[in-house]
Amino acid sequence: MIINRKIQLDFTIKNRESQNEIWKILRKLNYSVFQASNEIVNSQFFNEVYLFRQHVSDYKFIDEEMKSLKKQFAQKTTSLEEKKEILYVLTRDKIVKERINEARYEHFKKEFDIGIQHSSYDVIKQLYPDIPPRIRAALNYRIFTDFKRDLLAVKNGLITLRTYRKDIPIPFTVDALKISIDERNRFLLKWLFGINFYLHFGKDDSRNQEIVLKILSGEYKAGISSIQIKDDKVFLLLSVDIPNKNPKGLNPDIVVGVDLGITIPAYCALSVGKGRVALGNSNDFLRVRLQMQARRKRLNKSMTLTQGGKGKNKKLKVLDKIKECERNFVKTYNHNISKKVVEFAEKNGAGTIKLEFLTGIGQVDRNKPKLRNWSFYELQTMIKYKAERAGIKILHVDAYHTSTQCANCGNHEPKQRIDQTTFICKNPKCEGFGKKILADYNAALNIARSKKIVTSKLETQSFQG
Ligand SMILES: [Zn+2]
Repeated sequence: MIINRKIQLDFTIKNRESQNEIWKILRKLNYSVFQASNEIVNSQFFNEVYLFRQHVSDYKFIDEEMKSLKKQFAQKTTSLEEKKEILYVLTRDKIVKERINEARYEHFKKEFDIGIQHSSYDVIKQLYPDIPPRIRAALNYRIFTDFKRDLLAVKNGLITLRTYRKDIPIPFTVDALKISIDERNRFLLKWLFGINFYLHFGKDDSRNQEIVLKILSGEYKAGISSIQIKDDKVFLLLSVDIPNKNPKGLNPDIVVGVDLGITIPAYCALSVGKGRVALGNSNDFLRVRLQMQARRKRLNKSMTLTQGGKGKNKKLKVLDKIKECERNFVKTYNHNISKKVVEFAEKNGAGTIKLEFLTGIGQVDRNKPKLRNWSFYELQTMIKYKAERAGIKILHVDAYHTSTQCANCGNHEPKQRIDQTTFICKNPKCEGFGKKILADYNAALNIARSKKIVTSKLETQSFQG
């Protein structure tokens, strides 16, 4: 987590004349930094436009060439041999043209991104040689990052390019942040140009001193920080990276079993105790599906009146958008569910999450018509990656019988799972005998307690038959 703190700075030099000298240096520097910031934006926007022009001219050139070849092809005087050759060139050009599409443009840009970022660094190096390298590097990085963030909105006409004002803070790289404690316990910042400051914490309600001490001890890490000049005061804008706390104490023997299903997207059960949680609801999906269907219907209606190729293309585009919209919904939904699975494990101190090993199409267990409706694989992948980040181990268990055997006594016989949602154990010796329980909970519990750990399809019962 990055936080920013504002700390007032005092000159270490008390002599009035020397202080005026420092003010002169700082104000001049601030002015150069202000000009350089806008120069970086201009220079980077030029790069953008240049790349775009290049891209368009590539297209134009090939288009013109293709046109003239087609003309030649149609001429009566063209021989069969020549026609063959023209066809060859046309096909090649078509391939080339397809390659110079937006994706290629993006790829090209990415490949040269480092060079592009550096180009404005070089420009300001030439134009503002009074800006030292540590400030130049930090400034170019910051402005370029802002520029990249704004670019899409700029291209869509939502905003204009950023302009920077004279009071822009002066950023510098971390190696120019040299803070030490002197013999009188003052916090000393030895900055650039041989300028030294004392950190002035004042009442320090926000505990800035504590944060600086933690930077000095290495517990926290400082990032690109800045000096800000405001009227007759100087401030340090300190950027600090505070490491995320590790709420450990997770026990690998406490296991969360996750049953993925249609009625309830993810049902979690603890291997010990009675902890459980149902995450998500199939109705969420149904609702979105219906919304999208309605949109498609409306689209069909409005487009029946449109004739010609253009209208059709437009319709296809809108259909693509709708598909993408639906896809994005599922993705966001899966992100949400996977986050909650991991949170459930953390809350209960569980150091292990067990998932069913997905064998893919044609799941043998007929009570589990899963894997058809939406991407369980994606959900599993997300759970895996989020769990690993939280220090929780992931294991896959054999899915065979997880929904049809009793989690309490292990009894397996036909018709215990009486429908999609209900399970009743038929073993008279079982505590759960004759009692209705939620089928998803029973399955999740089986998964949590399962000892059949598998790592490949070959190891699963359903494969061995
Ligand atoms: Zn039982």
